[in-house]
Amino acid sequence: MNKLADLIERDAHQLGNLLTAEGGKLYYGAYYEAVHTANTLRYFCGWCDKITGKTIPADGPFFTYTRKEPIGVVGQIVPWNFSLTLTALKWGPALATGCTIVLKPAEQTPLCILYLAALTKEAGFPNGVINVIPGYGPTAGAAVSSHPDIVKVAFTGSTQVGKLIMETAAKSNLKKVSLELGGKSPLIVLDDAGVDEAVQIAHDGIFMHQGQICCAGSRTYVHEKLYDEFVQKSKIKAEARKIGDPFDNSVQHGPQIDEDSFKKVMDYIKSGKEQGAHLECGGDRFGDKGYFVKPTVFSNVTDDMKIAREEIFGPVQSIIKFKTIEEVIERANDTLYGLAAGVITKDINKALTIANALEAGSMWVNCFFALGPQSPFGGYKLSGLGRECGEESLDEYLEVKTVAVKLPVKL
Ligand code: ADP
Repeated sequence: MNKLADLIERDAHQLGNLLTAEGGKLYYGAYYEAVHTANTLRYFCGWCDKITGKTIPADGPFFTYTRKEPIGVVGQIVPWNFSLTLTALKWGPALATGCTIVLKPAEQTPLCILYLAALTKEAGFPNGVINVIPGYGPTAGAAVSSHPDIVKVAFTGSTQVGKLIMETAAKSNLKKVSLELGGKSPLIVLDDAGVDEAVQIAHDGIFMHQGQICCAGSRTYVHEKLYDEFVQKSKIKAEARKIGDPFDNSVQHGPQIDEDSFKKVMDYIKSGKEQGAHLECGGDRFGDKGYFVKPTVFSNVTDDMKIAREEIFGPVQSIIKFKTIEEVIERANDTLYGLAAGVITKDINKALTIANALEAGSMWVNCFFALGPQSPFGGYKLSGLGRECGEESLDEYLEVKTVAVKLPVKL
C-alpha cells in the first residue's frame, strides 16, 4: 500500500490531468486529490497490524476471545465527483483488513481509476486483489450489488441509487451494505460571527467544485442581524469567481459534469425564481460551449422552497434568515438528510450546543469540509449507512468471530 502511495505521488500530475480531462475538475484540485489519495492509502496502511480482537470475561469455565476476520470479496461503486479520493477511502480499509476488491468506477470518470489500477500492478499487488470493472450503473453496477460471491458492497452516490443497491443486496445474498449518499447540509452563521470570515467559509462551502459535493453547505442560515450585509458580500464574492477552462490555474469555477447535471441545476434555479426567492446573481449559463453555470446566489429563501429542500449538486447558494438558536436548530434538522453541518460563532457554548443538537454525521465549527482519512465520515437519515474513514470504517470490512475454549474445571 505504501508502494502504491509512492507511485501515485510520482504520477500525481498524470492522474490530475486525467481527472480534469474526463471530469472537468479544476486541475489544481485534481492534482491535490491525487496527493490526498496517496495520503489516504498511507493512513490505512498503518492499520494493517493494529486490527485486534478482545478477550471476553464470559460466564462459565471458558476462555473466550474474538478474532476480526476479513469479510471476503467486496464490491465498491464510486461516483465521478471525487473518483480518486473515494476510491482510496474504499480501497484503504478493504486492503488493510485483508479483503479483495471489485470496483466499478463512474461511467463519466473511468480513466483515472484504470490508471490507478495499473499502478497497483506496478506496486506488486497480487493478481486478483484489485479488480476494476468500468461500465454503466444498471448493468455493471447492478452486477456488483447482486453478485452471490460478493459479500459486501460499499457505495457512494445518490440516495435513489443507494436504495436500489440495498434492495438488490437484500434480494441476492443479503450482503452487508455501506452507503454514503446525498445531503442538504446547513451552515449556521450566528450573530457574533465575523461577517467577512463567515461569507468566505460559506462561499467555499457551496461553490467548491461547482457545488458537486455531497456534503456541500447548501443551506446557509444567517442571523437576521447580519443578513443584509452577508447577502451583499456573498453576491460580490460569487460574481468575482473566474469561470473557464479547468486546466487554467487562475480559473476558480469549471463546468458541471455533463448535460443532465447541467439541466438539473438550471431547473432548480428556475424553481427558485418561480417560488419567490430573490436572485442576487448568476442564474444562467456562462458562454455557449460546455456546461458552465454561473455561481448563483439566492436570498429570501424559505425552508419550504425546493432549492432549500432538495439536493441541487450545483453552484447555487441559498441564504436563509433566522432569529433564534432554538428555531434554527429545529429548521436545520427539518430535512431528510443528515450528512454534515456547520456553525460559525465565537461562543464555544453555543457552538457545542448546536453541534450536539444537529442530526449530522460531521459537524464543523468555524470551518467547513474539515475532512480527512482519520475522521469518520457518513450520514444520519437518508444520507447513508455506516462510516468511511477512521477506525470505524474498518468494521465495515470485518467479520467478528467469537472463539470459546472450555477450560478444565480441575487440573
Ligand atoms: P450521481 O448522481 O452522483 O452520478 P449515481 O447514484 O447515479 O450518482 O451514480 C453513482 C454510481 O452508482 C456510479 O458509478 C453509477 O454508475 C452507479 N450506479 C447507478 N445506477 C446503479 C445501479 N442501479 N446499480 C448499481 N450501481 C449504479
